[in-house]
Amino acid sequence: VKASGKCLCGKVAFGFGKAEASAHCHCHYCQRAHGAAFVTWVVVKDDHFRLESGERNLHWFQSSEQSRRAFCAECGSTLFFRSTLCPGETHVTRANLVGDVEIPVRYDCFVEQRATWGETGGDRIQLRGDSPALAKYSAVRP
Ligand SMILES: [Zn+2]
Ligand SMILES: [Zn+2]
Repeated sequence: VKASGKCLCGKVAFGFGKAEASAHCHCHYCQRAHGAAFVTWVVVKDDHFRLESGERNLHWFQSSEQSRRAFCAECGSTLFFRSTLCPGETHVTRANLVGDVEIPVRYDCFVEQRATWGETGGDRIQLRGDSPALAKYSAVRP
């Protein structure tokens, strides 16, 4: 597993050579921090993690008594989690990787806190990016 990643504006870039695990976290902290139903984390040992650029843009804050989270102060991308509960690890948001890593998402964590509105599919109307209903957004390129 070798991967690199970046925030939305690109100022913060990072990489790692090895990952331990990947999990969806449904906890209320993750929901609130990321504005999402759940967050997919990749667990990386600090030895294998490196910040490539954007140290000055990276803002760490205390999200609980034990834990800190980091985001890009320019674009707001929520990127990293570190905690005294899991010393020596940096948890990295999988959605910020460039491409993806070959590591299965093996766990759903804190499922009792799962957002009831967070499911995809079902009987909802499924719109592809080229759907006429989304035409006004079509000028946006990733
Ligand atoms: Zn950024
Ligand atoms: Zn969480």
